[in-house]
Amino acid sequence: MSALYGRVALIGLGLIASSMFWGIRRGTLAGEVAGYARSAETRATARQIGLCDEVCDTIAETVKDADLVVLCVPVGAMEAVAKEMAPHLKPGAVISDVGSVKRDVIDSVGPYVPEGVHFIPAHPVAGTEHSGPTSGFAELFDNRWCLVTPAPGVPEAEIARLEAFWRGLGSNVDRMEPDHHDLVLAVTSHAPHLIAYTMVGVADDLRRVTDSEVINYSAAGFRDFTRIAASDPTMWRDVFLTNKEATLEVLGRFTEELFALQRAIRTGDGEHLHAYFTRTRAIRRGIIEAGQDTSEPNFGRGSGGGKGEV
Ligand code: NAP
Repeated sequence: MSALYGRVALIGLGLIASSMFWGIRRGTLAGEVAGYARSAETRATARQIGLCDEVCDTIAETVKDADLVVLCVPVGAMEAVAKEMAPHLKPGAVISDVGSVKRDVIDSVGPYVPEGVHFIPAHPVAGTEHSGPTSGFAELFDNRWCLVTPAPGVPEAEIARLEAFWRGLGSNVDRMEPDHHDLVLAVTSHAPHLIAYTMVGVADDLRRVTDSEVINYSAAGFRDFTRIAASDPTMWRDVFLTNKEATLEVLGRFTEELFALQRAIRTGDGEHLHAYFTRTRAIRRGIIEAGQDTSEPNFGRGSGGGKGEV
């Protein structure tokens, strides 16, 4: 594919940005890629592994002359980064982001977007429990969705170019209204993460079950919870603090269903349990049919870690 942008600036050099860089290189989607991370340590690692064509020491240098700037920092850090980069943006540039929550990013970055610069928020629904500059790989976005949540008034040609960029990275692209995005993700990602964190915490609290028993006799269900619960604490703290309403709504529904199942167990209502599990099994089949996971045993992950969606 020919380059869609001349210079792309990636702010934050963790899992998502490093995967984007390798994907941009695979697809020749940009003339050059500049990267910035706040710590000297991450910048040194990036230089060492050849991540980005240029690793800059300041945000100002990184975004200078960039046609596309992508904010790849935790959601809670977006506002400070936007404020710092705003005076250095090229007129006509596009700002985007990869944050897991959209309404909060729009509200916190939006006010700093200069006249003549276009802000097109996006969220690649792809990830792993690993983080940092060495965790990325070009295939991360292949056949996963990237949800784009443009504000009214942004030129259609710029939205289409960003969508082509994500398709070039391997993603399927869809547009969504930001609040709807946050509700959908609360159901499919945010609440499940909180449940996984809780389950692993509960196992840790059950002192009657020793640590070695938890580790040695981990059945697939619990092992999957531990994988999810190993996700980056800063990123997930920010997700819950910024997608508060939708997450609390989903957790309220979850608690009601949990109580109903708890009651069915106590009263020996096997019919209720069977009907419930039959319904959930159909949802799992739907996910496999949509190509968003595999029916292989252990989710095709083998014995090593896996590519979980985040
Ligand atoms: P990550 O691997 O932890 O990397 C985060 C990067 O942001 C690091 O380079 C870090 O710099 C930098 N950073 C952290 N706090 C900062 C601050 N206060 N100011 C400036 N820079 C800061 O994170 P990631 O997984 O790539 O996630 C990045 C974004 O993608 C998040 O908004 C997340 O919600 C979203 N996302 C993540 C996933 C996933 O599965 N991980 C999936 C989809 C979307 P240092 O290394 O110097 O600390």
